[in-house]
Amino acid sequence: MRSQINLGSVFGIKIGLHYSWFIIAFLIVFSLSAQFHASNPEWGDGLILTLAVLTAILFFISLLLHELAHSVVAKSRGLPVREITLFALGGVSQIEKEPTTAKMEFWMAFVGPLTSAVIGLVCLALSRLAGEASSPAKAMVTWLGYINLALAGFNLIPGYPLDGGRILRALIWWKTGDVERSTRMASRAGQAVGLIFIAFGILQFFGGAGIGGLWIAFIGWFLLQAAGESYLQMSLKRAIEGVTVGNVMTLDCPTVDGNLNLQHFVEEQLLPTGRRCFVVLENGAVAGLVTLHEVKHVPRARWPFTTLHDIMLPREQMHTVTPETPLLNALEVMSRHDLNQLPVVSEGHLAGVLSRAHLLGILKNRAELQA
Ligand SMILES: [Zn+2]
Repeated sequence: MRSQINLGSVFGIKIGLHYSWFIIAFLIVFSLSAQFHASNPEWGDGLILTLAVLTAILFFISLLLHELAHSVVAKSRGLPVREITLFALGGVSQIEKEPTTAKMEFWMAFVGPLTSAVIGLVCLALSRLAGEASSPAKAMVTWLGYINLALAGFNLIPGYPLDGGRILRALIWWKTGDVERSTRMASRAGQAVGLIFIAFGILQFFGGAGIGGLWIAFIGWFLLQAAGESYLQMSLKRAIEGVTVGNVMTLDCPTVDGNLNLQHFVEEQLLPTGRRCFVVLENGAVAGLVTLHEVKHVPRARWPFTTLHDIMLPREQMHTVTPETPLLNALEVMSRHDLNQLPVVSEGHLAGVLSRAHLLGILKNRAELQA
């Protein structure tokens, strides 16, 4: 979800548009134009195109309102929301913490479909008020009315991670008090829904529905993947709850002096050790970080005349954590900035390094010993 356009922010929540959204926007404009053409052949091409584009934009805004409803409720319950991203299959609210009670989960999930349903009903009421005669405005609100009701209905399908799956999870959680079990059951339901969609889509395709059938199968495949992944993610979150960076960092972190020249550094440290990340020390304190990335930016001929100090990522620009930082937060920093290593600094001194490779090793050992 990295390649996206920033659309600004609403209520302090960033809104991003992933490039895949343009595919769906194009498809909507294309199919709406065809539909308006068929139902109102007397309308000109310019009018139809304008109408289709306007309808697609309003559809985009109604998707955004659905996601904003989730995010605003999350924020009001004290859960931080990083951003809302719109992509080919709809929107995602990136809510940084899991809800702490079943009731909170229920309302966060329920307001999305509720918002879509209200928008849908308002549009259909407007369509009624517009009278019997067909007009561009009536065609637009009618389509928006049905699509928003369909959106509410689709999202209420009880398979995690759809809103309906979250509602199901909240209800089981509330009934049994067992969050682990509710997550497992809602994810299973999500995988089942995904499989049903795939089977139905394939049957439709061979029954002559063409690309529409494949589209349904594709949505099913997406649901199947997402259900499995969200479950894994949640189990991982639970497994590392209470673990801090200090528990899992490596202590044998290679340090180098800032005055060292690049030629010597590459020959004596980088190549023989095979490490990719070095902490630069100056007067015993952490001054910066040198990774393969910084080295590659300097032409080879300049190596003998360049010191590590010249090329390092300075301390002020480094992302660092403390030994007390919860592991989950550190992992979020790493994934947000696409980092493989994170220096652990305690009171200005280097305490260790959190590295992705080392973490994977720890997780693997734990998993094998438990099995
Ligand atoms: Zn939703």
